[in-house]
Amino acid sequence: MNKRNEYIKQWRRNNPDKIKKYRRRYIKKYPWKRNWKYLLARCSTKGSYTLKGIENKLTMKELKSLWDRDKALRMIQPTLARKDHTKDYYYDNCYFTTFKKHTLEKKNCFKWQNKYTDCLKCKEPIVVYGSRGMCRKCYWKAYYRREFKR
Ligand SMILES: [Zn+2]
Repeated sequence: MNKRNEYIKQWRRNNPDKIKKYRRRYIKKYPWKRNWKYLLARCSTKGSYTLKGIENKLTMKELKSLWDRDKALRMIQPTLARKDHTKDYYYDNCYFTTFKKHTLEKKNCFKWQNKYTDCLKCKEPIVVYGSRGMCRKCYWKAYYRREFKR
């Protein structure tokens, strides 16, 4: 550990309020970065989308242009969504919508998806969708066994 890193670490420990303030200021300036962070988390090695085989092929620049195109700044809780939920995140498959609308769309989509999606755990076709690519039964089993972070 060099001196500079040590100094930064120390500063962070001593100034939690400042960090919060700066973070808030940063998100206000670049609000789409929040969605970028969520996207990376979903598609990271431990993310739920990786299990389903969904990849992120979107760049940060593309996300920003989607943000501008769909005027996400005026939305309440802007959320990045895909037109086709079986396909990856790429420019032509993505759009911004509000969180509320997206939840409704997702519900309809999963009903339709159930016809051909198999549960990751029991490999049976999903009749009722739980989450994380599992049927409801396996999802709750995994939930109570704490197999994933809640
Ligand atoms: Zn299952």
